Amino acid sequence: MTTRFDILTLLPDFFLSPLTQGVIGRAVTKGILEVGVHNIRDYTLDKHRTADDPPYGGGPGMVMKVEPIVRALEAIAKKGVEPPEGAQPLQGADGAKIILTSPCGIKFNHNAAKELAGLGRIVIICGRYEGVDERVMEFVDMELSIGDYVLTGGEIAALAVVDAVGRLMPGVLGDDDSSGHDSFTDGLLEYPQYTRPEVFRGMKVPPVLLSGNHAEIDSWRRAESIKHTCRRRPELLDAAPLTDAEKAVIESIKQG
Ligand code: SAM
Repeated sequence: MTTRFDILTLLPDFFLSPLTQGVIGRAVTKGILEVGVHNIRDYTLDKHRTADDPPYGGGPGMVMKVEPIVRALEAIAKKGVEPPEGAQPLQGADGAKIILTSPCGIKFNHNAAKELAGLGRIVIICGRYEGVDERVMEFVDMELSIGDYVLTGGEIAALAVVDAVGRLMPGVLGDDDSSGHDSFTDGLLEYPQYTRPEVFRGMKVPPVLLSGNHAEIDSWRRAESIKHTCRRRPELLDAAPLTDAEKAVIESIKQG
């Protein structure tokens, strides 16, 4: 299955490098992921290509206008408005999930990425300035935040979504299984990883990892994963599937 992302932005050049680099760049080249980047200004109605205006009621900054965004969405979804010359239409996009990047949105996490990875089409709107006219919300399926801080625009958030969702798509990672052990996949943080040299400035790789005993390595990794999670993100343990013996170990760690 190919997943197609369409990104609406005032800064299309922002995406030039990230979408050609590394794992995501390779997936785009292979056609496993398709990413269309659309300049919202191409959907403005006046000769100055105005995409923002001062806020009603006063206050600092500018607000992104509703019409260009909705025209862009409609053009991309082929809902009656023809895309301008050169702009890429989104074929059969009626089932597309339309996401607005926003610090006020629900927090983007591994479960949200997994959910989105099951979809064929995702449209992401990048805000700038003070954000977008609230009426855009009528055309949006979900608002996503990548964290409790304010970025200057939604482009970095859109890239985070493309990257995190993209790497879960079959065929995107070199080894399909290599996201299977990552943090959050089984509700826990990942175990510590080591590579050569065996000793660095007196710090040794845990001997079990050199033992060649895969059962012991698996059980060491599971225990380390639980310890890591317990120390750094204990709240994750509430939802993680754990055996009674593992729960007992956690209790003893908590009691110090
Ligand atoms: N005035 C807005 C507020 O206080 O909520 C902040 C606007 S911010 C400067 C401009 C744009 O950056 C937002 O419309 C959104 O698209 C994007 N953005 C900023 N922080 C974000 C975050 N944590 N997650 C996702 N998008 C974010």
